[in-house]
Amino acid sequence: MELVTTVQQVRQQVKAWRKEGLTVGLVPTMGFLHEGHQSLIARAAKENDRVVVSVFVNPIQFGPNEDFAQYPRDLEQDSALCEATGASLLFHPEPEEMYPEHFSTHVDVDGVTENLCGARRPGHFRGVCTVVSKLFHIVAPDRAYFGEKDAQQLAVIRRMVRDLNFDIEIVGCPIVREADGLAKSSRNTYLSPQERRAALVLNRALTAGRTAMERGERRAQAILSIIRDELDEEERANVDYVKMVDSVTMEDVETAQRDVLVAIAVYIGKTRLIDNFTFHVE
Ligand code: AMP
Repeated sequence: MELVTTVQQVRQQVKAWRKEGLTVGLVPTMGFLHEGHQSLIARAAKENDRVVVSVFVNPIQFGPNEDFAQYPRDLEQDSALCEATGASLLFHPEPEEMYPEHFSTHVDVDGVTENLCGARRPGHFRGVCTVVSKLFHIVAPDRAYFGEKDAQQLAVIRRMVRDLNFDIEIVGCPIVREADGLAKSSRNTYLSPQERRAALVLNRALTAGRTAMERGERRAQAILSIIRDELDEEERANVDYVKMVDSVTMEDVETAQRDVLVAIAVYIGKTRLIDNFTFHVE
């Protein structure tokens, strides 16, 4: 596996692969890789001849009071994980490589970005869509892999790809969890041992909501209050949002029909964690 830092190096490598008729998968990440990322890389390696992993903590998707500076970084470990999982190229650009002086073009996706994390993190998806568009242009992969952990991000990227005619297949991959149910996240590293225990309430609350749905409950209000009640039991937890939305439009629904996403964002101490499940109603 090769580690490169410039757009030109990526283009050169991909061009050489294309000459050989090889297919290319892309896994965009912010690094500090764990088994969630690893599942995306492994899937990409299975479905493509070559895999590019990008590790880039994208400054423009963080708000002014968010954790850009503190975001955990460990390129050496990331590089080992990528290589062991079957990646061919690790792209690790400096911010100046992605955003040179006078950078002034952004990608805005309307509607689907306006609820959930989009409502709570102004400018976040503009930053995500801009960087992902750039990566799509730089790598021009056949397929790109995203986790269902960030369910709204996946819906936003699918919409952007459709609207802007990117010729790229978007592959969504299931949430990978710790043995005790906590969704894996680079941000879990911020949690103290007490907070780590408290964070289990996210999965516990979602499980309670899902159980109610499996028993036939369809009213969003009823399901969301079961989830909120469970979250309120944990004193270290502060709810940012608890929502049931249409899984394509990300608009609130009153009653579960077809495919819905139940998504939560919860502060455990200062750390904001997200988790979700999707539910299909026959
Ligand atoms: P990040 O580095 O947090 O930006 O994540 C990079 C990609 O990995 C995104 O598509 C995430 O949705 C995905 N991802 C992160 N955590 C998980 C997880 N626990 N399970 C599955 N995918 C994940």
